[in-house]
Amino acid sequence: MDNSCLFCRIVAGEIPATVVHRTETTLAFRDINPKAPTHVLVIPVEHYADVAVLAEANPSVAADVLASAAAVAEMEGLAADGFRVIFNTGEDGGQEVFHVHAHVVGGAPLGPMLAGR
Ligand code: 5GP
Ligand code: ZN
Repeated sequence: MDNSCLFCRIVAGEIPATVVHRTETTLAFRDINPKAPTHVLVIPVEHYADVAVLAEANPSVAADVLASAAAVAEMEGLAADGFRVIFNTGEDGGQEVFHVHAHVVGGAPLGPMLAGR
């Protein structure tokens, strides 16, 4: 575990989170600052910095993260109307926490994919 990593500390139970789903390899919990009616973060239990590192190092766990994102969407009642899965990556991608996480957002029409520039 990386003590300096916020999401590793959530995995370890050192920082509380509202967990909605877990598997052997993944954890899903509500975002502290939701950007949509439903906003859940899905992470691998093991630390990988971003989705590119994860895909290269452990494609099987990358698949687990996607499967958990789909399970969360189903459990949260998003599957019928649709939802968005976002991996912010690196500086231009606006990534703030460098433990890879899928944002699963939905519960209302989400508008255009990117804000106007
Ligand atoms: P990023 O910008 O790295 O893609 O997303 C990081 C996300 O983590 C943000 O949406 C932010 O609201 C969320 N976040 C930051 N700190 C915490 C925390 O302590 N608990 C939870 N549940 N979410 C957090
Ligand atoms: Zn971590």
